Amino acid sequence: MTQTSRPFLPFVRPEIDEETIQGVADVLRSGWITTGPQNQQFEAELSAYFGGRPVRAFNSGTCTMEIALRIAGVGEDDEVITTPMTWVSTANVILEVGATPVFVDIDPRTRNMDLALLERAITPRTKVIMPVYLAGLPVDMDRLYEIARAHKLRVIEDAAQAFGSSWKGKRIGSFGDLVSISFHANKNLTSIEGGALVMNDEDEAELARKYRLQGITRTGMDGIDCDVLGGKYNLTDVAARVGLGQLKHIERFTQKRRELARAYFEAFANGPAVKLGMGLPMNDFSDSNWHMFQAALPLDKLMLSRADFMEQMKERGIGTGVHYPALHLFTLYRARGFKEGMFPHAEKLGASTLTLPLFTLMTQDDVAHVVKLIDEICEQYGHNA
Ligand SMILES: *Cc1c(COP(=O)(O)O)cnc(C)c1O
Repeated sequence: MTQTSRPFLPFVRPEIDEETIQGVADVLRSGWITTGPQNQQFEAELSAYFGGRPVRAFNSGTCTMEIALRIAGVGEDDEVITTPMTWVSTANVILEVGATPVFVDIDPRTRNMDLALLERAITPRTKVIMPVYLAGLPVDMDRLYEIARAHKLRVIEDAAQAFGSSWKGKRIGSFGDLVSISFHANKNLTSIEGGALVMNDEDEAELARKYRLQGITRTGMDGIDCDVLGGKYNLTDVAARVGLGQLKHIERFTQKRRELARAYFEAFANGPAVKLGMGLPMNDFSDSNWHMFQAALPLDKLMLSRADFMEQMKERGIGTGVHYPALHLFTLYRARGFKEGMFPHAEKLGASTLTLPLFTLMTQDDVAHVVKLIDEICEQYGHNA
């Protein structure tokens, strides 16, 4: 095993500049620390980033999607079509509003919802299509909206991972229906925790604002009223200040991620891991923001499990992650009748996927080092390497 003096390389780490840290201290000293001027500024700058569309910020990407479902009027008796290859919150929010999640399998090439299967899953009860842009790679947006228009369905884009991604040169979020973003600590732009919804319509933006805080509206200097059932989903000004500090760097962040992803493809090229059958993500450098670089382990050719592979990497100083096990196989969803064999591509990827380190503070040398270790493990434990 290679002994190195390298510090442990996690699979993700946020980059927060000193100006942002100072800005957070300023907010804390200002006397106004929850939703206020920073939140307003964050929403204004996000709106400008998305071409002037209305944006409201929330305290998680999860509640952002739930509010989007409420805005679309989704409730009992409604079906929402999504993918099983996503973070569990995508489907949980569908259950949260009382609706039924309907899954379609992924296209193994893009690892996103297979749009050819989508049309067949539409029923008279379908109300919303909820695509997920795994690792920041969008689906075919022309096709998606063509299908939505033809069936008069609303679209809630789970663009949690796609801040900075684009489609044919247009930013994800700058067009389309309801677009939900997450600012969780691991995402390309973070506010520690947080989310934002990009909309088309000022009335819906006002509804989003009400759902965010107990459905409250002010009536004059001394009065309030509550006319819809809202919750407690507002973003603090401390979090908004972090988001504002990140927004300044988003172009550089995306650029850096693309360079690192390119370095991965170069380092993997024809090496022992790829020869053994290691799957690599789609080689896309026009649309994806490279939120993650996910390998698919050739488990049938390896004499060790994914957990053991991760352990071997950890021993060599490298952190890895799993994004995600196919979610229809979680206990909550099995209890609703989902089982093995229903979405074979998602199941296969879910069982073999491995997220490799990719974050803006990494170097190309780190990438080469990670791949060298993966190649070593594949040579040591491969059947026919
Ligand atoms: C992160 C993420 C979410 C949830 O966002 P939170 O801010 O953690 O609530 C939802 N969907 C996907 C695909 C995500 O990656």
